[in-house]
Amino acid sequence: MKTIATHTLGCKLNFAETSDLVHQFTDAGWKVVDFNDKADLYVINTCTVTAIAEKKCRNAIRQAIAANPKALVAVIGCFAQNATAEIRKIKGVDIVLGNDQKHNLLYYVNRRLSSDSDASQPAIDNNQQPEPKSFHLSFSRTDRTRTFFKVQDGCDYFCTYCAIPFARGRSRSASITETVTMAREIAATGTKEVVLTGVNTGTFGIHHKESFFDLLKALDLVDGIERYRISSIEPNLLTDEIIDFVASSRHFLPHFHIPLQAGSDKVLHLMHRRYDTTFYADLLHKIKKAMPDACIAADIMVGFNGETDEEFAKALAYVDSLPISYLHVFTFSERPNTAVLKMDERIDIHLRRQHSRQMHELSEQKKKNFYRQQTGQVRPVLWESDIKDNMMYGFTDNYIRVRRPYDESLVNTITHHQLKRFFDKEEVFE
Ligand code: SF4
Repeated sequence: MKTIATHTLGCKLNFAETSDLVHQFTDAGWKVVDFNDKADLYVINTCTVTAIAEKKCRNAIRQAIAANPKALVAVIGCFAQNATAEIRKIKGVDIVLGNDQKHNLLYYVNRRLSSDSDASQPAIDNNQQPEPKSFHLSFSRTDRTRTFFKVQDGCDYFCTYCAIPFARGRSRSASITETVTMAREIAATGTKEVVLTGVNTGTFGIHHKESFFDLLKALDLVDGIERYRISSIEPNLLTDEIIDFVASSRHFLPHFHIPLQAGSDKVLHLMHRRYDTTFYADLLHKIKKAMPDACIAADIMVGFNGETDEEFAKALAYVDSLPISYLHVFTFSERPNTAVLKMDERIDIHLRRQHSRQMHELSEQKKKNFYRQQTGQVRPVLWESDIKDNMMYGFTDNYIRVRRPYDESLVNTITHHQLKRFFDKEEVFE
C-alpha cells in the first residue's frame, strides 16, 4: 500500500483543501502517515501571505526531500502558483500545481507513477500556472466534531499589500443549491459544527446574482448541523441583516472574525481598504449591542507604509477602545506584484518589529479582559474527542476553550457548562 504525508501552511481554506485531497487518496487505496515519517508521496500545500510563510514552505519542501529522497514530492497551492519557476528548479520536487489544478493531484501523481514516466524528468507543473478560475467545494474531514467548509475562493479587492488575488484568482463560488447539497453531505457524516471559509467569504455569489446572506438562510435549514461559524468576513460585507440574522439564529454562533488591518484612516486609505475607523467601530458596537457576549477577533497588520510612530500610537489607542476579544497580529512584508511596491513612506524593519510587540501585548490584555467578563456564565460547549491528561476539551458558542474530566459519552455532544475558573497559562476554562 502506498503512503501519503501532507503538510499544510496558511489559512483554513488550505486545511479544508488538503483534507479533501487526503480523502481522494485514501479512497484510491493510499495510507496516510505523519509528515515526519517515511512516505511514498509528500504533499506540501503552500501559502504566500508573508515572506515568513514562504520561508516555512521552503523548509517543509527540504524536510520532505530529506526524509525520503526516493519519494514523490508535490508542492501545491498559493506559493506554488506564484513561484512556479523557483520551485520547479528545486532538485527533488516532482510536481508543482497551482490553485486551479491542485484538486487534480491524484491524476498528476498517477501520471508520474505510470510505467512510461521517467523519474529523472523535470517536475510536472500545470502549464504556466494560468490565473485560477475553477471552483471546487470541499470540507475538512479530520474529526466528526467540526469541519472547515470551503464555500468561496478568490478575491476581487486587490488591497495594496495583498498577493492573494494573484495566487487564488477572482472571487467565485458554487450556487446556493450546490453548496447546500454538500452541507447535507457534511450533516450525514455526523459533524455538528461547520466553519464557513473562503478568501473573501462575504462575496459569495456576487458573480452569479446570489448573496452570502441568502446562503446563510439556506444553510440554517439543513437538518443535523447544530452550529455554524463564519470564519472571516470583510467589515463592509457584514451587513445589518446578517448581524440581525445571527443574533436571532439558533445555529449561527456569536463569534466573528472581522479583519481590521490598520487602526488609522491614513493607513487604511493607503491599503485601499473599503471602510474607515468610524465605520469599523460602529460595526463592532452594533454587534455587541445585538450580542453582548459575542467573541470578536480582528486581523491587524503593523508596519505598513505610512504607519509612523505617531500613526501607530493613534492605532493602538483606537484598537484599545474597541470591543475586540483578541487580535491576529501580522507584520507587514512586501509581496511581489503588489501595488504597495510603488508607494512611498516605507517603515523601517526595526520599527515594524517594535510595533508588532506592542500590538501583541495589547491583544493579550484584551483577551484576558474578554475571558474575565465571561467568568460564571453558563454556555453551550461542543465536546471534542481529543483526550489529554484524562481531560476533554471543547469550545463554547462564543469561542472560549473549556475542559472537563473525560467522558466518552459526551464526545460530539453539546452540553451547558459553567465557566468557573480560568487557567491563564493554558488559556482554558474549567
Ligand atoms: S480582501 Fe484584501 S486582504 Fe483580503 S484577500 Fe482580498 S485583497 Fe487580500
